[in-house]
Amino acid sequence: MAWSSPPAQGPLADALAQLAATVEHLGYDDGMHQMLATARREMQVSVPLRRDDGSVHVYSGYRVQHNFSRGPAKGGLRFAANVDLDEIRALAMWMTWKCALVDVPYGGAKGGVAIEPRDHSVGELERVTRRYTSEIAPIIGPEVDIPAPDIGTDEQTMAWMMDTYSALVGHTVQGVVTGKPVGLGGSRGRATATSRGVAHIALLALAAHGFEPEGTTAAVQGFGKVGHDAARFLAAAGVIVRAVSDVDGAVYARDGLDIARLSAHAERTGSVAGFPGAEPLDPADLLTLDVDVLVPAAIEGVLTADNAERVQARFVVEGANGPTTKDADAILLQRDVVVVPDILANAGGVIVSYFEWVQAHQAYQWSEREVNDRLEERLTTAWHDVVEYAGAHALTYRQAATALAVRRVTEAHRQRGLYP
Ligand code: NAD
Repeated sequence: MAWSSPPAQGPLADALAQLAATVEHLGYDDGMHQMLATARREMQVSVPLRRDDGSVHVYSGYRVQHNFSRGPAKGGLRFAANVDLDEIRALAMWMTWKCALVDVPYGGAKGGVAIEPRDHSVGELERVTRRYTSEIAPIIGPEVDIPAPDIGTDEQTMAWMMDTYSALVGHTVQGVVTGKPVGLGGSRGRATATSRGVAHIALLALAAHGFEPEGTTAAVQGFGKVGHDAARFLAAAGVIVRAVSDVDGAVYARDGLDIARLSAHAERTGSVAGFPGAEPLDPADLLTLDVDVLVPAAIEGVLTADNAERVQARFVVEGANGPTTKDADAILLQRDVVVVPDILANAGGVIVSYFEWVQAHQAYQWSEREVNDRLEERLTTAWHDVVEYAGAHALTYRQAATALAVRRVTEAHRQRGLYP
């Protein structure tokens, strides 16, 4: 990253601004600031695809490894049309802070291919995944960098990545990716871990501010791997989930959506739109609905200076990475909206990814109960760390979480020393 010319706006600008404020709070010097702001390694690759009709199209792919001070790099792989290098840099940096905050022995990474998965057949997606994996194979591995699912990718994508990497090195390497199918060394509980964590942290936040889950209302943006089960877990805890959305539309039911029926509808039709048990809603209006809890669980940058003034929720629990821009964050703070940051709220996924990696090393599978109990224990510890630090230093939860994480990464860096 060109240290001298950071972007003026977008996720990387926001991530760098958060870091700059944290460095100032912690009193670090400019050299340490540069170490923390700069990715250790970045790879940009071309991903040529022979399409089903015989034509060839070349996509851009990226893998950014932001930091290795606490261990191998770890982070998701995103397939989305608008993926670019700066977005991946920001997401990789946030992964470093997330792993440190929940104390898993990893640095942060992220990958992406600028492709719209919905425009491609399963066969095409497999070929893109395998080619991308072979291009980045020199810089990934169970001790180096361990990808996982993110937007537009899933456990099938991880199975193809593991198979491709294993074929290249000549033997099966389960620990090279996490979020695999359970039959291939995936962890029980991984598929729902991020959502379980979002709901767990949301309930802790509600309790800390004197709210009971029963009768509390919520809206969830995104009905993918994170949003879908977050809505389900919240509803199971007694929260009235009034609205959910996906890229094709949004639905609203004042007395609460029947999440099981909505899931069946979305499974059948590919979208929540048109669900007969609810009213249609303008997806943009979901963010400013009259609910207690807003869970953005789709993409970054959805809460902005344009809509933050109109957010009615008392709590924003960030299921997505980076859904709140820097400007929106300031407005929400001024309006006393409690923002529970992404690096805490959605850390359940990387925690169980860590458990999956541990299980691969042990060649032993844990029970789902064990996974879920250990997940909740780690998240609860991180939650209390953040609340305590925020209280002691008069910081927001995001500022406190980032400060704790950056301090841990810096301590590891100082202990290891600078080579040579
Ligand atoms: P996904 O691809 O499974 O689902 C994304 C969902 O968002 C889909 O329902 C899609 O229709 C919807 N969406 C996309 N654009 C939208 C828009 N403009 N408005 C409303 N909905 C929109 O992805 P996911 O894995 O659920 O990831 C969602 C977010 O959570 C991302 O920010 C990701 O980085 C973050 N996250 C994911 C994990 C994980 O384990 N999958 C872990 C931590 C954080």
